[in-house]
Amino acid sequence: MSTGTEPPGGPAGPGGLGVRLPSPLLPAEDERFGRHGVRLLLKRDDLIHPELIGNKWRKLAPNLAGAAGRALVTFGGAYSSHLRATAAAGRLLGLSVTGFVRGDELAGRPLNPSLARCAADGMRLVFTDRARYRAKDDPEVLAALLREAGVAPDAVLVPEGGSNARAVRGCAALGAELRGRADVVAVACGTGGTLAGLAAGLDPEQRALGIPVLRGGFLGGAIRALQEEAFGGVRGRWSLDERFHFGGYARTTPELLEFAEDFGARHGMAVERLYVAKMLYALLALTEEGAFPPGTALAAVITGTPGPEQPPVTVPPATDKAAEAAKRITPIEATKPTGRR
Ligand SMILES: *Cc1c(COP(=O)(O)O)cnc(C)c1O
Repeated sequence: MSTGTEPPGGPAGPGGLGVRLPSPLLPAEDERFGRHGVRLLLKRDDLIHPELIGNKWRKLAPNLAGAAGRALVTFGGAYSSHLRATAAAGRLLGLSVTGFVRGDELAGRPLNPSLARCAADGMRLVFTDRARYRAKDDPEVLAALLREAGVAPDAVLVPEGGSNARAVRGCAALGAELRGRADVVAVACGTGGTLAGLAAGLDPEQRALGIPVLRGGFLGGAIRALQEEAFGGVRGRWSLDERFHFGGYARTTPELLEFAEDFGARHGMAVERLYVAKMLYALLALTEEGAFPPGTALAAVITGTPGPEQPPVTVPPATDKAAEAAKRITPIEATKPTGRR
């Protein structure tokens, strides 16, 4: 049985999978930060493994370490990067994985690129009606779902979004890798599990800054609850800035897309749009507001790479039409993660 405190080692660990830890911390020359005396660093968790999405791997590894060949079960929406990461890990580790997908109306339709990737990795997809999906934390509902899907009763359950106590403890290693290397460490938040662990792993004088990509203001409570579950109390110095969700999960604007494209071109990397782009945008806005005193070393955690659902960016031309479009908020997909609340 796994204690949940082991490093991402054992059968799921670096040896078997070619996982690159600690992830690189690279200085980023960017005069937009430099002119305010802020030194920007990129913590490249996207380089941990080509297929095991950065922070998702840190969260999965401690859960998989206890799997020891047992089947794996998890949950997610139609575009869930957690589902994708779990499917990839299952294939690489030779585990049988079942993914319950929110929405039985998807069952008869062609798979979107994200789910197609899951299926290609061997994940068995079980489309689940929304009412039962919502009720999956009820042990009776869960037992029925597993029974109907023919999942072995000893299967290892990984929660939606991947954030449980083990996952949060796994993310403390991210903080530990950054000790003494930055004054402020910023990360985009979905469920907040990554921030909860990161903050706990930092030195006491360092501080973690979370940028929620979902709207709603529920995240502070969720992070405190995750830290209590993982560590027995609130840990580290952390705060959230709730201003940069751009309308909610997977919502974006032409301005944000253009920012992401430009940042990628400046720094030679593809910027993931659902999370990373919003966090980087927030850091520039905060820098310009004078939120970081001159001399601040600011580390931005690059938690992942663009998934198969992110088509190549086309920046709209600077026409009146584009200016009109810039005033609207454009949903690029119609789903959102509903991790622990
Ligand atoms: C899932 C994800 C996050 C958010 O992680 P949480 O632990 O749920 O807050 C951030 N960035 C990327 C790229 C992700 O895929």
